[in-house]
Order: sequence, then C-alpha cells, then structure tokens
Amino acid sequence: MAARIIDGKTLAAQVKARVRDGVEDCKRQGVEPCLAVLLVGDDPASAVYVRGKARDCEECGIRSLVERLPADTTQEALLVRLAQLAADDSVHGILVQLPLPAHIDERAVIKAIPPEKDVDGFTPVNVGRMMIGETCFLPCTPAGCMEMLDAAGVDPAGKRAVVIGRSNIVGKPAAMLLLARNATVTICHSRTKNLAKICAEADILVAAVGRPKFVTVDMIKPGAAVIDVGINRDENGKLCGDVDFAAAAEKAGCITPVPGGVGLMTRAMLMVNTLQAARNTL
Ligand code: NAD
Repeated sequence: MAARIIDGKTLAAQVKARVRDGVEDCKRQGVEPCLAVLLVGDDPASAVYVRGKARDCEECGIRSLVERLPADTTQEALLVRLAQLAADDSVHGILVQLPLPAHIDERAVIKAIPPEKDVDGFTPVNVGRMMIGETCFLPCTPAGCMEMLDAAGVDPAGKRAVVIGRSNIVGKPAAMLLLARNATVTICHSRTKNLAKICAEADILVAAVGRPKFVTVDMIKPGAAVIDVGINRDENGKLCGDVDFAAAAEKAGCITPVPGGVGLMTRAMLMVNTLQAARNTL
C-alpha cells in the first residue's frame, strides 16, 4: 500500500498563518516582531536561503533586516555588529547564515548571539536547555520534523526511532526531541555497523545524511514513518532527499517528500521562533 505523503507545503502554510495572527496580536500590543539575518560572503546557496527567510518574514508580517557583509569581513567586525544587534531592543531574533567563511570561528560567532534572540536554537544555552527539557528555542529543522510527525498522527512514545546523522543542527537535536517524546532512539552515523538492519527496525526513521537515495527500500520497516531531511541533487541535477522516495513510498506508512517537505517546515519554524522571541519581550 502506498504511504501517506506528509505535505510540507500545506503544513508550513498552516503554521505561517498561525504566526501571522500572532504577529498581528503582538503589533496590537505595541511590538513589531523583527528578525535580523546576517549573511557573510556570497555563497549562492546561502543567498537563496536568506532570500527565502526574508520572504517568509514578509508573508508573516515580521520585519526583516537582511545584512550582507563582504566575504573578507573580519571575525571582530562581525562580533561588533552582533553586539549592536544584541543590544537593539527593536530586534527580537538574530540569525547568522551558515556556513561562514573559513577564517571565521563559527562557534565563537554563535556564542555571541544572546540566547533570548537565538531563533535558530544553536547557542550552547539553548542546546543545554533542550537537553534538560527546559523551555528554549528549538532548532528549526528538528522542530519541523516533530511537527510533521504530529501532523501525521505519529506519537513517538514507546516507538523505535532511528536517526541517521549526528550533526549539531539536525541529527543530535532530532534524536533529543524524539527522546523527549519517549521514543527509544538510536543514532546512526558514518561509523555505524549494520546500519541497514538497524534502520529496518525503526518505526520512525529520520534521515539527515546528505547523500542522495542513501536510504533504500530494504532499510524501511513496513508502515514506518519516514522523515527525509536531506537536500541533495541526483545524477540529473534534480533536487532529492536522502531517501529513495519512489520505492520507499510503497513500503512506508507515511513519508515526507523532497522538495516540499522538511525544508519548508524548517522555514516555518523559524517564523514560530521569531514570533516567540518577540512575545517574550511583551
Ligand atoms: P552533516 O554533513 O553535518 O552531517 C551528516 C551526518 O551524516 C554526519 O553526522 C555523518 O556521520 C552522517 N553520515 C555521513 N555519511 C554516512 C554514512 N555513510 N552512513 C551513515 N551516516 C553517515 O549534515 P547536516 O547539516 O546534518 O545535514 C544533513 C542533510 O540535511 C544535508 O543534505 C543537508 O543539506 C540537509 N539539511 C536540510 C535541512 C532542511 O531544512 N531540510 C536543514 C539542514 C540540513
């Protein structure tokens, strides 16, 4: 039987509509939510992402400040600008588009974002709060994955969940959020042995590897919920995820497509976090 498709486009539109209402409410109370996005250098993919974020802000009624800094911006200059944005009460969310040019220490830059404006959920304080289940800004991609599971009616409690990938921005936090919802979680990575077998036992499979069609149909348990985080190009240059979608959709219970899946929810969750950051100042 064919899997249900978890449609990121519809879901993201619903989330953004809710944010729009919340933004209106915030404005009525005298606060205009504002997101500052810093882009250093001219990486074309990053430029596309930043444009998308500005469009989302516009759609939600959030003011966006996009600042493009030259590739040779020094770390010191970037930290100075971040300190100004940190001190600016009219700015609620601050996001530094990654990756940064090689001469800049990404961690030092992330640490310079005040936790209350860290709408990406990347600062050590927010990561720590997430670990111990305190209120915090959740990283947008894993938070989007959880929304998609909820929308599909998949309750992680008691289920076997497998996350492939252990990055700080996707794999690790995705595993943590599944654990917080009482799944039994396994994290697989590049050194994992018997990966296919482990995946085939998963009721919930989250793929965040970055390799086209890495997850083949034999790695999917019949009826599993499959969340495909990957954004790759296939051999024909077409956008695709980490999962061999056509085959997987015949076996899974529900599955997210690429494009039209987690990527759109990631963007929507950034809007949720920015609204929350503004609300927190009311
Ligand atoms: P990353 O490169 O930081 O991490 C990839 C992970 O995959 C690593 O932890 C590594 O251990 C694991 N891995 C690599 N090869 C493996 C193998 N052969 N077997 C098992 N595990 C292996 O990447 P990331 O930032 O976590 O992103 C992962 C993918 O998700 C990429 O395609 C990226 O473009 C995409 N992504 C999508 C969104 C979105 O909004 N949809 C957001 C962030 C990242």
